[in-house]
Formats: sequence, C-alpha cells, structure tokens
Amino acid sequence: MTSERTINQVIEQIEGDRDWLVGIVRDLVRIPTVNPKFERDEDLNREDQCQQLVGNLLADANMAVSTAEAFPNRPNVVGRLDGEDGNSLAINGHIDVVPSGDVDAWTTGPFEAAVRDGRIYGRGSYDMKGGLGAAIGAVRALAACGIELAGRLEIHSVVDEEAGGFGTRALLQGVPRTTAVIVAEPTQTDVMVCQPGLEWVRVTLRGLSAHAGWRYNDIYPQPQGPDRTRPGVNAAELATRFIDAIAHLERSWGKRKFHPLLPPGITTISPSVVHAGVGMGPNGLPTSVTNPATTPDVATIDFDLKYLPTETSEQVRREFEDFVHHWAMMDPWLREHPPRVQWDLYGLHFPEFNTDPDGPLVRSILRQSARHGLPGRVTGFPAVCDGAFYEGADPVIFGPCGADAHGVDEWVDIDSLIGVAKVMAVTAIEHCGVAQ
Ligand SMILES: [Zn+2]
Repeated sequence: MTSERTINQVIEQIEGDRDWLVGIVRDLVRIPTVNPKFERDEDLNREDQCQQLVGNLLADANMAVSTAEAFPNRPNVVGRLDGEDGNSLAINGHIDVVPSGDVDAWTTGPFEAAVRDGRIYGRGSYDMKGGLGAAIGAVRALAACGIELAGRLEIHSVVDEEAGGFGTRALLQGVPRTTAVIVAEPTQTDVMVCQPGLEWVRVTLRGLSAHAGWRYNDIYPQPQGPDRTRPGVNAAELATRFIDAIAHLERSWGKRKFHPLLPPGITTISPSVVHAGVGMGPNGLPTSVTNPATTPDVATIDFDLKYLPTETSEQVRREFEDFVHHWAMMDPWLREHPPRVQWDLYGLHFPEFNTDPDGPLVRSILRQSARHGLPGRVTGFPAVCDGAFYEGADPVIFGPCGADAHGVDEWVDIDSLIGVAKVMAVTAIEHCGVAQ
C-alpha cells in the first residue's frame, strides 16, 4: 500500500518542477512536427528531432527507451519501466501536428511557444504536446521520488495520428499490450471513456458518357436517330441524388442512434470529397475532368462516416451497403449498373471503443482530479484518437485544458498541465501498484 506521504512527495515534486514542465512543453512545441502528409517542408517536418528530445527526457526519468520508424525518418518512441503485465499502463501521445494555416493571423509565431496569461501558445501546444509533456513530468516525478512500480509503465510517443493513426498502429504491431491505456489528448481534464468508430468509404457511380449537346433529349425526350442524339447518363447527377439520399439516411440515424455520453446526431455521414468526369482511371478516379462538353460517366464520393461506440464496424458496413443496394434497385439504370462501395479508403479505419465508466482506472483519475481541483466529468470523445487501436485495453482519454486545436493561436493552460501531470503520476501508482 502506498503511503499518503509518498503520494504527497510525488505531488510536491511535480509542483516544484512547474517551470521545468513548462520548459519542456515549450521545447517540444518549438520543434515543428507538421505531418508531412499534409505539408512537405524539411524545416517543418522534424518529427525525428522531436522524438530524440522525447527519448532523452524519458531516459532521464530512468525509462528504457526504444525507437522504431513508423515511416522513413518518422520514428515512434517507447519509454518503459519494466514490471508485471497484470497491472500495466501505457500513456499515449502523438507529436505530429497539423499545418499552422495562415501564419500572419497568429499573434505570436506558431512555433515560438510564447507564454502569456498562464498559457503556452503554439501549434501542437494543446493537440497534444502539452498532454505528452505532462506524462513525461509524471514519470520524472516517480523517478525523482525513487518509486518503483509493480506493473509495467510505458509512454508511447507516436507520429502520424493526425493522418489516420498509422504511428500507433505500427507501434502496437506484435508488442505485448498493457491492461490499461490513457491517451493524453486534450479533454479540458474531462475523462472520456468512449469514442465513435470512423470509416472512410468511397461510393463510385457509373453513368454513360455522351456529347453534352444531346442533353436536350433529357429535357424534351424526342424521337432519336440510330445513335446521334442519345443524351447519356450523367454520373454527376447520380452523385447529387445519392448525396441527397444519404442525407436522409444520416437524419434517420440521428433520430434513432444515441449514446448517453456523446452528442445526439454524432452518427454523421459527411460527403467530403466529390469527383466527376469521363473515363475510369487506374486510381479509381475519373481520368478527364476538364471537358464539360462530355457527359460524365464516373462519379466518386468519399464519405467520412461515424458510428456509435456500441455498434461494430461490421454492422454499420452492412447497414450502409443495404441502403445503397435498395436505393439502386429503385432506378432502372442503377439496377443494371449498381454503385460500388469501397471501405478502408486510404487504409483509414478507427475502431470504436466503449470503456466502462465505472472501471478502476476511471475512478482513480476522477479521485485524483477532485483532489487537485480539476472538474473531471465523465463523458465521451466526439472525435477519434489513437485510443481506437488499443483493442482490449479499455482506453481512457484524459488531458489538459486549452483551445483552438487545428486553429490560429492554439494554446494550452499551464495550471491544467501541472494538474494533469499530478493525476497521471498518482493514477500510475494506484493502477500499477508499488513494488515490494
Ligand atoms: Zn490530437
């Protein structure tokens, strides 16, 4: 049993390390780690340099550090304090960030990490180098107080969350899982115990190309010659009809699919990328998109589809495909030329998770949050994060306060960083136990 004295010692250590923790979060923000899938620029794509810093900080906290590239020059870093599998805990944080957007609109440079009014400003300060920094602060305090945990504690510092979670997916390949996971994404110190599943799905509709000049035959059908004035079937218009039909499905999902911890209407099916043109290219997109004089015979619509934490990917895929099938059966052309549904677009798929809100890890975080004056509501994460990939580990999302993730003047609140570090340190002690 851990004495109250030990716990107080850890908390005092973190309080005393306040300036150090602010310093390391600023150092992490100052190394631009823009995901190269969004913006390619050597000066901005410095994930390897940032991970080197993370590795050094974890080594300073007595962790065994291992590094493995998820992609060339884009390493994941794992810090490990060895211990039993039974009460093991991992804390996950991603270091990649989205581009700064309009740099001139920022009050101070996105990678300056300026401190104003008890906040650190900068791209990635809130999403989510702040949370990762707090986790590092927590293990540093355990080391400084000479606490040896019984269960294994790991820090997973990953790349490529923003572009689909491929960093965490690579990290988890073939490694023994921990029994519990905290993802340190910013949550305003709420404890988020579930998240929707996310699918990217492409629907391809095929029409019939023709000279756009024969379209009058669609308006006033007229006697036709052998093949002179056949108007074709416009795939762009099939796409607009399909998008309209999906909007009805989305509304019906919104009326009947609910989760108590998520906003109503969360099961969205957003038509986000639409292409129409002539000829099917080898990449699944129309080959010719610059000639309005030809009726398009190919249209593709890429949807961002969310489903409830209580549903499974298989159920939702079947439901969507059934809808597409019945919609197509109502149209003579589409009945003969059914739409094609393609899942795992660009390899993206975030499984749902639905962790018990009364589980021991959640209760431990809530208890510590109350002790340190953090609001700590139990709720759900309305977006998706890397917790999705820790299958079987009951992930929980918990991190600092701030605002403007992915926006201009992103910031993280310094007091909440210190609070989150304290909660993480004591929760690790409670979950992993102390070695006898
Ligand atoms: Zn994030």
